[in-house]
Parts: sequence; C-alpha cells; structure tokens
Amino acid sequence: MSILDTKIEFLKGVGPKRASLLNEELRIFTFSDLLNFFPYRYVDRSKIHTINTIKSFDVDIQLIGNITNKKKIGVGRKNRLVVDFVDSTGVVQLIFFKRIKWIDDFIQIGNKYLLFGRPKKYGSSISFVHPEIEIVENGNKKNRYPLYPLYHSTEKLTKSGLNSKGISKIIINVLESTLNSIVESLSDSIINKYKFSSRKLAFSTIHFPENLEKLNKAIHRMKFEELFFLQISLLKQKRIRKIKMKSHIFNKVGPSFNIFYKQYLDFQLTNAQKKVMKEIQNDMTSGFQMNRLLQGDVGSGKTVIAIMSIILSFDNGFQSCLMAPTEILAKQHFDSINNFARNIGLNVVLLTGKTKKQIKNQIISDLINNEIDLIIGTHALIEDNIKFKNLGLVIIDEQHKFGVSQRAKLWTNKYILPHVLVMTATPIPRTLAMTAYGDLDLSVIDELPPNRKKVETIHKYDREINVVYNFLYRELKNNKQVYIVYPLIEASKVLDYKNLLQGYENLKSIFEQKGIRISMMHGRLKKDQKQLEMDKFLNNDTQILVATTVIEVGVNIPNATIMVIQNAEKFGLSQLHQLRGRVGRGSDKSYCFLVTSNKLSSDAKVRLRAMVNSSDGFKIAETDLHLRGPGDVLGTRQSGLLNLKISNLVQDRDLLYSARDEADKLLNDDLYLKNIKNLKIRNFFLKYHQKQLKWGIVS
Ligand code: ADP
Ligand code: MG
Repeated sequence: MSILDTKIEFLKGVGPKRASLLNEELRIFTFSDLLNFFPYRYVDRSKIHTINTIKSFDVDIQLIGNITNKKKIGVGRKNRLVVDFVDSTGVVQLIFFKRIKWIDDFIQIGNKYLLFGRPKKYGSSISFVHPEIEIVENGNKKNRYPLYPLYHSTEKLTKSGLNSKGISKIIINVLESTLNSIVESLSDSIINKYKFSSRKLAFSTIHFPENLEKLNKAIHRMKFEELFFLQISLLKQKRIRKIKMKSHIFNKVGPSFNIFYKQYLDFQLTNAQKKVMKEIQNDMTSGFQMNRLLQGDVGSGKTVIAIMSIILSFDNGFQSCLMAPTEILAKQHFDSINNFARNIGLNVVLLTGKTKKQIKNQIISDLINNEIDLIIGTHALIEDNIKFKNLGLVIIDEQHKFGVSQRAKLWTNKYILPHVLVMTATPIPRTLAMTAYGDLDLSVIDELPPNRKKVETIHKYDREINVVYNFLYRELKNNKQVYIVYPLIEASKVLDYKNLLQGYENLKSIFEQKGIRISMMHGRLKKDQKQLEMDKFLNNDTQILVATTVIEVGVNIPNATIMVIQNAEKFGLSQLHQLRGRVGRGSDKSYCFLVTSNKLSSDAKVRLRAMVNSSDGFKIAETDLHLRGPGDVLGTRQSGLLNLKISNLVQDRDLLYSARDEADKLLNDDLYLKNIKNLKIRNFFLKYHQKQLKWGIVS
C-alpha cells in the first residue's frame, strides 16, 4: 500500500476528530484525497495596496499600516471589536465578532501590521470583517508564497480550525510526507511532446505556486491528465464494445425498404441524411452492436432516419422499438408510420400509459409471439413485462428527456444485444459530446432540408403585445396557425397556471369574435383531453394553441408558422430553441416572438440576444454551456463522468482535443495497455478506473 492511501486521521495536524469532519464535509478520506483537494483560487500576495487606491470590493487585498485606535462596542452576544487601521493614505475599520479577547490582546496600538482580507464599503467608509493580520517585523514582509492558495471550507470545518488557512497548513504536511511517493502517470513520450511538468512538481506547485507561470504550467498538466484518463476510459469501452458485443447483421435491403423509398418518401434526402443513413447501415451490418447518438437540430429530419432504420430491421426479420418522451410525440410517430405500414406488411402498435389494460395484455402476448414488428410508445415500454421475441433495434427519440438507466433498461439482459440509436435535438457542443457521450458513436445531421427559411425571431416587451396580436391576426387570416406558450416553473405553479388561464381568456376575448378558434393544453388536463385538444389543432379545427411547454419536443405541424413565447425571460436557452423549432417546419416563412417583461437580468439579455441573432442550435448550445455549465445543459444525464475536478469543457477545448487524440492513438496501438512503455499509464488507469466504478455505483 502506498502512503498515499493512508487514512487522513494519521496525518500530522489532523487526528480522529478533524478526520471525521474532513470525511463528512469534503469527502476527504486519504492522504491522496487531500493532495487532490486543489485551491479554488489564488490571491496575489506580492502586492500591497494603499487605502486610497481601494476600488474593487470583491477581491482580497493586502495593506500595511498601524493600529491607531480600538474599542469594544455592544454587549453580550452582539459584542464586537472595532479597530482603526491607517496607512499614509487613509483609514479603514477592522471589525471582529469572534475571539474578541484573543484579538484584542494580539493587536497593539502603535504596532505595524500586514492585513489581508476583503474590503467592504459602508457609506463613505471602508471596513474589513475578520481580516487576517500579521505583525510586520522589519519593514516589508517577504512572502514565501506570493500566490496564496484559497481552499473551500465549511462552517463546521472552520469551527475546528480548518478554514482555508488551516487546510493549507495540513496540505503542507501531506506534501511533505507524500511528495516522494507521487508517481508519474503519463508516458515519457507524452511528457516530452507537450513539455508537461512532472506529476510531483505539478502537485507541489498547484498548492504553493512560486509564480503565475509555474502555476499555469502545473494546472495545464493536471487538466490534461484528467481529460486524458477520462478519454481512455470512454474510448476503451467503445473499442471493446466494437470487438466484443456481437449483434444482428442487417445486410438485406429488402422489398419493404424499396417500397417505402419509392412510394412513401415524398422528398429527397439531404446529403447529411444520406451520410447518416450510411453510417447506421455500416453499423448494422458490422456484426457488432450499434450504439449511436444521432444529433440533429430541430427540424433537420431525424424521424425519417428512424423510420428507414426500422424498415431495415423489419426487412431482416427483426422487431423494433421506438420510444418517445411524451404521449403526443409517440402518437405522432405512430400516425405517420401507420400511413404506410399496412402496405409494406409491417405490424405496428402504440403503447402508452393510457393504453387500456386489455389491449396492453394483447400487445404483450403478440410481442412475445412475434406478431408485432414495431412497437412505439412512451416510458410504458420499459416495464418489466414487455418482452420481445427477437428485438433487433431500439430507437430512442429525444433521448435527453430520459435518464440513462431508463434507456439502458430497454436492452439489458437480452441474449443478443439489439442495435441502439438514440436521437437528440438538443445540440450538444462537441466538447461535451466527447465527454458525456464519449462511449457512443456520433452522427450529426448538419444540414436542414432545402427551402427552409430562417425563423424570424423578434423580441417584444409586454407593453407591445398588441403589436404582436395584430401581426398574429394578419397571419391567421392567411390560414396560418399559432402556438402561444406560457412558462410553467415548479416553484410558482399556481401563479403560472393563473397566468396561462388568464392569457387564454384574454386571447379568447380578442380572437373568438373574429372567428378564430383556440385550443388550450397543459399538464393538468387529462391525457385524453390533451390529445383531443392537440388533434383539434392538428386538424386545423383550432388555429391557436395556448400551451405550456408540453409541446416542447418533437411536435410537427408544418402549417403552424408562428410561435409566441410569453415570459420568454423565464426559459432556458435550449428550451427556447426547442420551442422555436416547432415552427419553420414547412416552406412558409415563420416567426417567433419572445415576449418579456421590461426588467431583464443580464443572463436573460444574453439568452434573448442569442436567440434573436442565431438559429444555429450548436451556437446556441455553446452559449448555453457558457451560461450554465455542462451539468445543467445535459439535464438528465446524471453521470460521474462530468465530475471534472479541474478542467473546464469551455475553456479547455483544445486540451480536450489533444487528450482525445493521444488516448485514441494509445488505444489504437495498445488497447489493453500491456506494452511496457505504457506501464505508468496502465498503473494510474487501473487506480483511476476503480474510482470511476465507485462513482458509477453512487450515481
Ligand atoms: P426532427 O429532426 O426535429 O425530428 P422531423 O424529422 O420531424 O425533424 O422533420 C421535420 C420536417 O421536415 C418534417 O415535416 C419532415 O417531413 C420534413 N423533412 C425531413 N427531411 C426532409 C427532406 N430531406 N426534405 C424535405 N423535408 C424533409
Ligand atoms: Mg423529432
């Protein structure tokens, strides 16, 4: 066992009590964990400010000065010590609430002190609450570590002396006792190629940097290491799958496919669609399991890819399953496939939460008897009693709406693995896709069908709503249809519904007298009623659909050309983009109005600007990633994979690409890391991978 695996309680300066706090509060259990607990920020302590130059109030600074006065104010628990601290340019106040007696003894009028802390402004005066102070003996004190590390701490830890400074003290101890045991994790060739610092140096520098240049070098190395091993883990899985996970071979392009292609495909595939179809066919004829993520912006035409893949599976004698996140979407897929299914002899059924028990039982028995070729549905498909005779293909539409485990349920425990295609319209920036979905193959439809016009996106304030309504009326008279969406946010559901209902009444009073009919749809309606309202809109019996975001994904009604989003400032970027994707689906010009209140946060302004200026889902996703970070962008993909400790997918994009390249080259050459020149990598990977597995169990 390496000293690095020693329990933290045995570190000098820790002991059992602090150890259990470190376990609980920071998940630090071993010497190694502490070593890997990096500072979140550094303060430049080479710089001494003067009081008259204090301008910024959100950073820590240093001052040198004298104490001219101190007094205790208040009584009992509200007691505090107020100290005047002066330099040659001005005066500030130091305020202490705790350990007053000790501080009072320590601070002596007339002595010179070095102060370190964050200034606060109260009216015209400046104060520091509980700054650090040290006595200055002879002139300027020279700091051994000009870049002073700051560590995250918690209230409980602080109480037991482990504030940031306390933590830095035990880090000195851990560095002392482990430095010689820190082993290199990268191969010589990679270190030389990128001129990385050694692992040992990187650790000591990251905690106590001598200067900025060395610090950046150390951070760079650590980031690479993190990304590199993550990529090794993902790419290794993927490669092994490709040589081990056998699956069905769909090498027949049979009569059904030909009939569909000649008679029912009423448009030319775009080049991007053709390219993706090729990729899928290659997978499905390779003999190994397909595990592919298909990304394509809203309206790029993913459905037809799904349909053709299903028909290929059918032509080769296998069953398929198509899962969608909402009933409406499942029904929509069912209807469009039903249009031609009978003519090619494909037996398709729909199974959702509202399917009647009796019919469901029939479906269950037909499935297992191979009477059904395709089942389309919602979450209902992943119930345990749904079993197939020979499932060949699983397609998941709008996969970002599902959890990972839900998806996996469809194809685990199968004797022979079905091919899996997951589709998403949430564009995932490449960096994120490489990381979060690095174990899947990626296809991208990066081209919209021809004749699509850009959806004109317009930001309007509430007070201009009549302008919007007048515009709607003109378009409605031209036989167009309109979506009007209201936000629904958990915290204030009641209020939101009130908004929605009021909006609906208001629209009725404006439009119904002009002969325009309105549907309304929201989560509180019964399932049947939801479908009824949707159908009315679908058949153009109603011209306006007032809805919550239930229509966010997948809905395809080309005649609806206007989307109005109320309280648009309350929506996230990807949601706005998805909603806008409901229009612009035919060849007619479409519009999206983002209606907001007058007061907008700066984030909201960025979001609105991004929407108005761009219709490119990938660009929007990048902005979203900047605003919210990867965890939130991915939503349901709960995964330890994104517990990146030091690297940042936005800032470290180039480094990620290098790490990916190197990992790829390495595995290409030595998949099982058996070559002696990769020994260091292997050893570290085995350790690292164990950790990953632990995460897997937790998440
Ligand atoms: P999404 O990728 O958002 O799921 P859909 O598959 O629903 O998009 O396609 C959007 C619309 O574009 C549909 O009406 C579909 O019939 C149409 N479409 C798809 N591919 C093409 C194409 N190559 N040419 C013309 N229209 C297409
Ligand atoms: Mg779709």
